[in-house]
Amino acid sequence: MTASLFRNYIAGEWVAGATTTINRNPSDRSDVIGEYAQADAAQTRAAVAAARAAFPAWSTGPVQERANILERAATEILARKDELGRLLSREEGKTLPEGIGEAMRAGYIFRFFAGEVLRMAGEKLPSVRPGVDVEMTREPIGVVGLISPWNFPIAIPAWKIAPALAYGNTVVMKPADLVPGCAWALADILVRAGLPAGVFNLAMGRGSVVGETLVNHPDVAALSFTGSVETGRAIAAKMAARMAKLQLEMGGKNPLVVLDDADLPTAVNCALQGAYFSTGQRCTASSRLIVTRGIHDRFVAALTDRLAALKVDDALAPGTDLGPVVDQSQLDTDLRYVAIGRDEGAQLAFGGERLERPKDGFYLAPALFTEATNAMRIAREEIFGPVAAVIRAADYDEALAVANDTEFGLCSGIVTTSLKHASHFKRQAQAGMVMVNLPTAGVDYHVPFGGRKGSSYGPREQGRYAAEFFTTVKTAYIAP
Ligand code: NAP
Repeated sequence: MTASLFRNYIAGEWVAGATTTINRNPSDRSDVIGEYAQADAAQTRAAVAAARAAFPAWSTGPVQERANILERAATEILARKDELGRLLSREEGKTLPEGIGEAMRAGYIFRFFAGEVLRMAGEKLPSVRPGVDVEMTREPIGVVGLISPWNFPIAIPAWKIAPALAYGNTVVMKPADLVPGCAWALADILVRAGLPAGVFNLAMGRGSVVGETLVNHPDVAALSFTGSVETGRAIAAKMAARMAKLQLEMGGKNPLVVLDDADLPTAVNCALQGAYFSTGQRCTASSRLIVTRGIHDRFVAALTDRLAALKVDDALAPGTDLGPVVDQSQLDTDLRYVAIGRDEGAQLAFGGERLERPKDGFYLAPALFTEATNAMRIAREEIFGPVAAVIRAADYDEALAVANDTEFGLCSGIVTTSLKHASHFKRQAQAGMVMVNLPTAGVDYHVPFGGRKGSSYGPREQGRYAAEFFTTVKTAYIAP
């Protein structure tokens, strides 16, 4: 154990873990961010017990105190956005502007939910029985377990923690083991913002240990998970067996439809940003570019030119457009899918090869396939890297059918100047979110986020819709 060990926060104390992990910079493997504690099952159970003990006072305590704490956290996150953004870019590999943008998003989310604390409205109706009133109110659920993935190390913890606390729940947070740094920094901020002991607990560590313990613990009343479909499915089976409340945000294979009448620069910008920025490691990334034949060749030529001009390098270096892939395992996955695409008969129009840079990082040239079909594995399976495939479509109707022909349904985009097609697509896209003339990735923080089909399960996250998951409704009948 080193002096700079970053500890877990359990029952109001910073505690060493059963084991530790070294957090390294994917842009430069020689750069160690720190040594982070990993909780075992017993420590995770202690965190749940602390959250359970803190629930009665927190859930019924003064709402002004709750709002103040969340507001103080928001203010500190925003004041430290550059430093937090740098930490984020260092541990996850997205570029510094993207890292700072994500840190700001986390700050605004806390500010939004500080306001929501005071807006937890109910409803009152006349009863069908004379003289009786009926009231519907929202109440917190209890101890909630929060499990996040590595690709948004501060925004996803923020958009789960802030509503959980705002609506009066107590929390055990398990961040992704690959990127504990931002979650630790967030915990440190929350503690100093004045949370009473036990209300918020940080249990860093392995999914197979900390995550499993939360999923199986009878005192965890609700669990919010973001991550892969595979892990989400396994969690769902266990949570259903003990009939606990569950919210899953999982993968995507998001389409961006480009029609003949599209403004070409808009289409290319949407594809470039949506498919490749943040190294393509976004659940909302547009990995299927469905392009009608009249614009196909011009679109591919313009996008290839833009890809060739992108600078892939150290996430912290000025001018870097794409940082590294997050780790060796994800890099191997990306390269394997590039090989699969070629074997399936798609044309590799650009990139897809490992890049050497002065620093020892996981650099990959962004890959663009053309002549792909929607039946290919590169068009059906989430790759989660800077790899996209162009699928040619005859017309709008075929493009829409291809867009919807997927087991996922997170975000669907279209680039068109036709109001008729934009309006039709908005209604017919089988996705939780639709973008018209905008990239599929990049969303507001104050409106619902989530998908359909295999992408999501349970109520939406973010905005006031977050109350659907983080509260339970009570109907009270009152006679004088
Ligand atoms: P992952 O492997 O499923 O891991 C997600 C989280 O679950 C991690 O904290 C992980 O811990 C934990 N975990 C693993 N096994 C577990 C188990 N048996 N029980 C409980 N928890 C367990 O996903 P990832 O690779 O980190 O993230 C990439 C995926 O997230 C992609 O599929 C992406 O599309 C999805 N994602 C979705 C959204 C959305 O809102 N729809 C947003 C962002 C990302 P470890 O750290 O120890 O593995």
